[in-house]
Amino acid sequence: MNGDTIAAISTSAGKAAIGIIKMSGPKAVSIADKIFLPSSKKKLSSLKTFNLIHGRVINDQKEPVDETLVSFMKGPKSYTGEDVVEINCHGGIVATREVLALVLENGARIAEPGEFTKRAFLNGRIDLIQAESVANIVEAKTSAALRIAQLQLQGRLSDIVNSLRSKLIDISVQLQAAIDFSDEDIEPDDYKSMLSTIKSVKKKTNELLETNKSGHLLKEGIKTAIIGAPNVGKSSLLNVLLKKDRAIVTSAAGTTRDLIEEIVDVEGLPLVLQDTAGIREAFDEAESKGVELSKKALSHADLVLLVIDSSKQLSEADKFLLKQAKKVNTLALLNKSDLETVIDVERIKKTYDFTVLKISALKQSGINGLKKKIYDTCISRSIESVDALVSSERQAQALRNGLEYIGKAQALLKNHESEELIAFEANNAINALNEIVGEISNDDVLDKLFSSFCIGK
Ligand code: GDP
Repeated sequence: MNGDTIAAISTSAGKAAIGIIKMSGPKAVSIADKIFLPSSKKKLSSLKTFNLIHGRVINDQKEPVDETLVSFMKGPKSYTGEDVVEINCHGGIVATREVLALVLENGARIAEPGEFTKRAFLNGRIDLIQAESVANIVEAKTSAALRIAQLQLQGRLSDIVNSLRSKLIDISVQLQAAIDFSDEDIEPDDYKSMLSTIKSVKKKTNELLETNKSGHLLKEGIKTAIIGAPNVGKSSLLNVLLKKDRAIVTSAAGTTRDLIEEIVDVEGLPLVLQDTAGIREAFDEAESKGVELSKKALSHADLVLLVIDSSKQLSEADKFLLKQAKKVNTLALLNKSDLETVIDVERIKKTYDFTVLKISALKQSGINGLKKKIYDTCISRSIESVDALVSSERQAQALRNGLEYIGKAQALLKNHESEELIAFEANNAINALNEIVGEISNDDVLDKLFSSFCIGK
C-alpha cells in the first residue's frame, strides 16, 4: 500500500442527485470513522467489505453536513487494491465540496487526475492496457467505442498480447537452453518450427497494428467533411444524418449560417460532421474561394462525403472536387436520385474510380446503405478477425517496436544464425510487448498516461 490516502470528487461538478467523494489508501477507513456517524452506530472499521451504510457526515463541531450513504471496499480486493471508501452525498456543489474539505482536513490529500486508476495499475489490479481502457470508457462517444473499451477492460487485448509474448518466450527459452547446454543443439527441424511460430506471431502483431487506425477513429471521432458544389444537397444530407433540423435548408444557395460541428452515431461510429456553410459562402462569393476551402476540408478529413446533384450535368466545381478527393476515404454521393438522372453514372465511376452511391436526402432513401458503406470505409476488417482494438499511440508504438525485432529474429532464424543473436532479438521483441501491458514502464510514461484522465478516476 502507498503511504498516503488520496481523495477526490468522482462525480462531475454541478448540481446532481448525488455526488461521490472517493478515498483510497491506508487511512481511508479511519478518516471516514472520524467524520461519519452511521445510523447503526457501528464504526466502518468493524464492518465487512462491500458494505453500504447509512448515516451523516459531521463537521468538527459535530454538526451534520449531509445525510449520506457510505460504501466500503477493503483492499486488496478493491478498485485500487487499497482500502476504498466512497461517500455518496447529495449532489449539490456545496455539500460535495464540504465533505471533500472534511476528508482532506482529516488526513487525505487531493488525488491527481487518474491517480485511483494509477494505483490500481501499480498494485497489480489491472495492466496498462486496461488502465487506458478505463479512460476510453469514460470518454466513449458511441456504443461501438464503449464496447471495444469494455473488451479491453476485460483483458481481451491483453490476452492477445500475452499469448504472443508467451510464444516468443518459448522460443527464447529453447534458444537459451541451446546456449547453456551443448547437448541441446538447435536442429534444422527446430529452426523450422521456430520460424513458423515467429511468422504467426508477426502476422497477428501486424493484424493488431492494423486495428490502430480504426481504434484511433473510434476513440477520437471520424472527422467527416460533406463537400460539394452549391445546392447539391449538402445541408439536406447533414440534416438527415443529424436526424434533426439543425441547419437551415432553403432552395437559395448560401443560406446556411450556423457553424455546425456535431457528433452523430453512425452504425456505432462517432462521425464528427464538419460545417460546410463556410464552403458554401465562399462558393457564393467566388467559385475559386469555395474550391480553396473545399481543398482544405479535404485535407483535414478522415472521411469525405462528396455530394453531387445527379439531376444535372457535372459542373466544373463537381469535376474539380472529384479530381481533388482521394479514393481511400471518399464516397461520391449522387444525390437527388428521386429526380430524373441526368448525370452519366458509369462515366463517373470509370473516370474517377470512387465508391458511388445513389441517395436522396430529400426522400431519405439510400441512407442506410450509405451508413453501412461509411462503416466499411472507416473500420478495418482486422477488427473482426482479432476482436480487439489497439487504441492508443503508446500501444501502437510498442507493437511497431516489437514487429521490428520479430522481423530481425525471423531473418536470423531463416539463415540459421547463432542462437545468441536470435535470442537477443527475441528478447527485445518480448520486452517491447511487455511494455504494452506495462510490465516495464518508466515513470514519465505513466505520468503522461494518467495525467490525461479526469480527476476522481
Ligand atoms: P447545399 O447548398 O448543397 O447545402 O444544398 P441544400 O441542402 O441546401 O439543398 C439545395 C436544394 O436542393 C434544396 O431545395 C433542397 O430541398 C434540395 N434537395 C436536397 N436534396 C434533395 C434530394 O435528394 N432531392 C430533391 N429533389 N431535392 C433535394
